[in-house]
Amino acid sequence: MARITALIENAGQVLTCAADAPDLVGVRTNTAVAISDDVIAAVGAVAEIAAAHDIGDAECIDAKGGLVMPGFVDCHTHLVFHRSRVEEYAQRVQGRSPAEIRAMGIPMGISATARMMREASEEQLAESAAERLAHMLSFGTTTVESKSGYGLNTATEIKMLEVNRTLNMRQPIEVVSTFLGAHEFPEDRSREAYIAEILDQMIPEVARRGLAEFNDVYCDDGYYTVAESRAILERGLEYGLKVKIHTDAYSHIGGSTLAAELQAVSADHMNYTAPEEYEALRKAGVVCVVMPALDFAVGHSRPFDARAMMDAGLSLALATDMCPGCWLESMPFVVQLACRLYRFGPAEAIRAGTLHAARALDRADRIGSLEAGKQADIAIFPYERYEDMAYRLGRGRAQMVIKAGRTVFADDRETA
Ligand code: ZN
Repeated sequence: MARITALIENAGQVLTCAADAPDLVGVRTNTAVAISDDVIAAVGAVAEIAAAHDIGDAECIDAKGGLVMPGFVDCHTHLVFHRSRVEEYAQRVQGRSPAEIRAMGIPMGISATARMMREASEEQLAESAAERLAHMLSFGTTTVESKSGYGLNTATEIKMLEVNRTLNMRQPIEVVSTFLGAHEFPEDRSREAYIAEILDQMIPEVARRGLAEFNDVYCDDGYYTVAESRAILERGLEYGLKVKIHTDAYSHIGGSTLAAELQAVSADHMNYTAPEEYEALRKAGVVCVVMPALDFAVGHSRPFDARAMMDAGLSLALATDMCPGCWLESMPFVVQLACRLYRFGPAEAIRAGTLHAARALDRADRIGSLEAGKQADIAIFPYERYEDMAYRLGRGRAQMVIKAGRTVFADDRETA
């Protein structure tokens, strides 16, 4: 008989987001969530829980009629960076072209962030990333993936990944580390020399220090070719790094087919993915990560076709793509964009930001749904019903957030 340490009661709705939920989110009413230390012990009626467990001295958490659901999993971010690119953004929204903005002397793109990164200390990077994570937590996010990729040399890439490790020790959100040496090309070396550095220095060193779980490449026109991406991803596999890929964001060069061949854990962006590739992705179990806020922030001219991908049976995950070009900490805002602009149903969007996002990080056995045995990562929102998450635009602040059974955020304002 498990000893219950906390009991969440008085929920308006509980969403389990269990894999087998016919409505995709597993809505339940008159339901409590029982926590035993860091895991979920049971989801059910209080009387049933009391009959099967020792709830004697459990802490009572009052959901106040709100929505109790799994914490969001933000499965694609570039969280660690220095300063910002606000000047570039302020010009881009007015429709100025990259050439015009460059002519104004404003630093642009990944290369600009890479230059800023080199002057930043590890402590400065950890502090600014922790500040962003604190906002993410307040929006109900309990796990965040964080990529390197603004280093473009071995020392700075390692520095970024060390920051991920520091963040895990310093604040409650779990930070999942991804090596993305192949994000851009540096300005001071040849393409061939840089790829050789990724293959022969960066990947072995990242693996030796245990600094990353995933290996990612930016496979797109103007970035890494399919052959280069394959070489980098296969080298990572030799060192035990799991495969992720940025692809089909701005062109269609075959990155999704490569993702399917390599059985990537996820393929991300997917604006130009061809319907003929859907079946291979589905069969290979590749989770497709789509990022409505990135398309929104860059004014993307070709939206990804989420409806067609979902209808083809693909598993879609949502993420913020937090980065200097898309400064967003809120997964509820991603849900709002996904529903209004990409024809997700509210249940599909919430599942994509929880269970499917956990799949995109190879963690669905541990997080992403409220089920007995899973880690107690729980967000409580002040909504009577889950559709409000999509409907109440610009809102999304959580009322309470629990990470591994511990209350790590409580909104003192009591309103969203
Ligand atoms: Zn990205």
